[in-house]
Amino acid sequence: MPVTKTITSLTRQFLEKEEMYGAHNYHPLPVVLTKGKGVFVWDVDDRRYYDFLSGYSAINQGHCHPRIIETFIEQAQKLTLTSRAFHNDVLGEYEEFITKFFGYDKVLPMNTGVEAVETGLKLARRWGYEVKGVPRNKAKIITCAQNFHGRTISVISFSSDESSRKDFGPFTPGFETIPYNDIPALQMALQDANVVGFLVEPIQGEAGVIVPDEGYLAKAAAQCKEANVLFIADEIQTGLARTGKMLACDHEGVRPDILLLGKALSGGTMPVSAVLADDEIMLTIKPGDHGSTYGGNPMACKVAMTALQVLVDEQMAENSAVQGAHFRKELTDLRHEHISIVRGKGLFNAIVINHPQKDAAWDICIAMKQNGLLAKPTHGDRIRFAPPLLINQEQIDDCIGIIKKSMENL
Ligand SMILES: *Cc1c(COP(=O)(O)O)cnc(C)c1O
Repeated sequence: MPVTKTITSLTRQFLEKEEMYGAHNYHPLPVVLTKGKGVFVWDVDDRRYYDFLSGYSAINQGHCHPRIIETFIEQAQKLTLTSRAFHNDVLGEYEEFITKFFGYDKVLPMNTGVEAVETGLKLARRWGYEVKGVPRNKAKIITCAQNFHGRTISVISFSSDESSRKDFGPFTPGFETIPYNDIPALQMALQDANVVGFLVEPIQGEAGVIVPDEGYLAKAAAQCKEANVLFIADEIQTGLARTGKMLACDHEGVRPDILLLGKALSGGTMPVSAVLADDEIMLTIKPGDHGSTYGGNPMACKVAMTALQVLVDEQMAENSAVQGAHFRKELTDLRHEHISIVRGKGLFNAIVINHPQKDAAWDICIAMKQNGLLAKPTHGDRIRFAPPLLINQEQIDDCIGIIKKSMENL
């Protein structure tokens, strides 16, 4: 179905303004949202949709969660930013809260996810030189093929996605990429004594929700420990109850040496990220060595505490596990000829579309939009399904109906 037939003239006005005045660095679904509540969003024509992207899992707690919004407004009326040149009366409380919540000695607060990744990489290098004793400027960090860790030049330096890299070089050295879900490859790479860290997504999100073999994370963490290499988990998308546990690493009892969080840490209200580690690692960074103007601002600190508490109080990890299993079962039971794979953990799922027509996944997403559900294709043939974690079974069943109906006219 041509996109032009599915959008109203009001929607078109918004699309045209963005096209005219905004950089063309995204290719969004042609829907213009104006309101959100829980699992739903509404467009400018007042049509309601299930949100099955959840802001790339930044909205695990649901749109405009009342407790998170209340915290946000309350703090906004009191104090928003001090910079770290001065103390504020929320930062310490937050640091105690989040370190006890996840069981680490220290936290380093940042804003966007990629800043948390960069901070984790810096920490691993510092630790490598000052604790492990790697010769200066020789530190190496192992990463995985098909990774997604953000968009800075250093982080795209180890991306295997050509469009993320093309004509953005020269790149940052010091990274080696190995296949994901491949323990022998990791074992081999760890033989180099200059390796300081292994950066990994417990489930690869942007690659299309690639779930590694059971035991991969535990084995990888054990290998790293044996080689005296830091296990750095990027839980920016997989963490915070998305996969049915507070962290995806919890499924295998793995405690990362460096834990990276972002996205849902603010419940979708503002960019809040965090790096957690123990003193041996974190205290290698001294005053003046690293920072961020907005990192640790009182708004972020307050909102993050509420966002985490909401996940616990509303048992969102448990709901994610239960509804996720139900969702996958129902999708699998469709036995649809054009769905070749259903995969995921908790409410972090994807299907792979098997259809001769190249744009089939995009067309399905357009049809789902017409039928009241928003999802986005990735890598051409994959569609991610990641609704807010408060979705209930009746709503899941409703959504299965929408997905089925949307695939009828392929
Ligand atoms: C989204 C994401 C990032 C980057 O977060 P930004 O806030 O967009 O910088 C990093 N790692 C993973 C796994 C992500 O999903």
